[in-house]
Amino acid sequence: MKRILITGGAGFIGSHLCERLLAEGNDIICLDNFFTGSKDNIRHLIGNDHFELVRHDVTKEYFAEVDEIYNLACPASPPHYQYNAIKTIKTSILGMINMLGLAKRCKATILQASTSEVYGDPNVHPQTEEYWGNVNPIGIRSCYDEGKRCAETLMMDYHRQNGVDTRIIRIFNTYGPNMDQNDGRVVSNFIVQALQNKDITIYGDGSQTRSFCYVSDLVEGMVRMMNNKQGFIGPVNLGNPSERTILDFAKLIIELTNSNSKIIHMPLPKDDPTQRKPDITLAKKELNWEPTVDIKDGLLKTIEYFEKKIKENK
Ligand code: NAD
Ligand code: UDP
Repeated sequence: MKRILITGGAGFIGSHLCERLLAEGNDIICLDNFFTGSKDNIRHLIGNDHFELVRHDVTKEYFAEVDEIYNLACPASPPHYQYNAIKTIKTSILGMINMLGLAKRCKATILQASTSEVYGDPNVHPQTEEYWGNVNPIGIRSCYDEGKRCAETLMMDYHRQNGVDTRIIRIFNTYGPNMDQNDGRVVSNFIVQALQNKDITIYGDGSQTRSFCYVSDLVEGMVRMMNNKQGFIGPVNLGNPSERTILDFAKLIIELTNSNSKIIHMPLPKDDPTQRKPDITLAKKELNWEPTVDIKDGLLKTIEYFEKKIKENK
């Protein structure tokens, strides 16, 4: 049994990770400030002797004895991370320093949830880990992108300078149950709009692309990365290489929900990346990992989740 700290554990991805690692017989500390996460996501785990829920902000020091740290604390949706941009940078940077300090003291292995956003609006397609990215350092997405880039730098410097056992994953757009229905990301927006027969809001002409990965595939990759003993510290891309335009994605959601929604176009937010697709050659080689869940199967499970949530809200 390992003692595992999961920051951002009450969020979308963190809640799935808590469930998985608890089921494998570990002791879990789920730490969250509940900015974008919710107790609803982990309510079924509360009361389990091996699950501890801690309300704490990673920008402040935290002391515990742990073997592993998964650092997920950070809002992930653009409206949420832009809501208080300075807080977002503090979360990525001070949070990373605090968690690396904890890892150093405990000799714990630490995994950082980095992002495809470190590639910015990429000129290399699909994106490989060697690509250094095309990031605007002063734009409205920079609080997130540059915060995550600096967090990667901190991981590498604590590794080189202090011998901390680090793992960096770069997560590409991930979806599934436990996403917040109001978080503003494309998957939750389109599904909730379609289920309510409201207009589907495409930003721009919808020709921009994304590649969507189902959450169970991602969690499998995260756990493999943490457990790999080959000395492979990353960064490694974790995502589903099946790429589609946002317009095609909207049509797919309308089809799967049998919706009467119309598609409307709204202004494209500044610095919105035009294309994004992971090259996962490295993850296949080092982790023997690749996604297995088909987009339609994953979306049907997600639609079922949002249907239930919408009913409960009424
Ligand atoms: P989420 O917003 O659902 O989860 C983030 C969690 O972190 C929330 O529970 C939130 O309350 C918590 N949090 C935020 N600031 C905190 C702070 N200062 N102290 C403590 N807790 C704090 O987002 P998610 O989609 O589950 O993303 C989890 C991680 O994965 C994030 O670090 C995100 O950047 C990264 N990521 C996600 C995606 C994706 O597609 N979902 C893609 C790339 C990277
Ligand atoms: N998007 C959209 N309509 C929405 C929400 C998002 O067209 O209601 C677009 C957004 O402009 C972007 C893509 O969908 O091009 C993915 O957006 P999301 O916020 O989910 O993630 P990210 O841009 O961080 O990949």
